[in-house]
Amino acid sequence: MSQRSEVRELQAALRTASDIAFEEDVPAGAQAEALVDALRRALGAAQSLSDGPVGTGCREHPRGAIDPLHGDKDDPLPPGWGRCLLCNDRRRRASRGLAGGRR
Ligand SMILES: [Zn+2]
Repeated sequence: MSQRSEVRELQAALRTASDIAFEEDVPAGAQAEALVDALRRALGAAQSLSDGPVGTGCREHPRGAIDPLHGDKDDPLPPGWGRCLLCNDRRRRASRGLAGGRR
């Protein structure tokens, strides 16, 4: 997710949370659950923002591990590969498979 869409997610979640929190009635039951859910989404979005460019930049695994080989000059990753360790491992397995299943 891009930073901008993270901000939108954060704003939407906070709006939902404050709508519920500022209701006349004390939130209970489903309302209270929706409040927790909205705050959780806000927290997730805020965390992605604070991670900034250190994140994987991966759509599927934005909070995943970063490939330690990324940025390694001695053993560079093939062009087009991202920082996401999960996706790169998948690519490694796939290319190994294409190479005749060695190893
Ligand atoms: Zn990934």
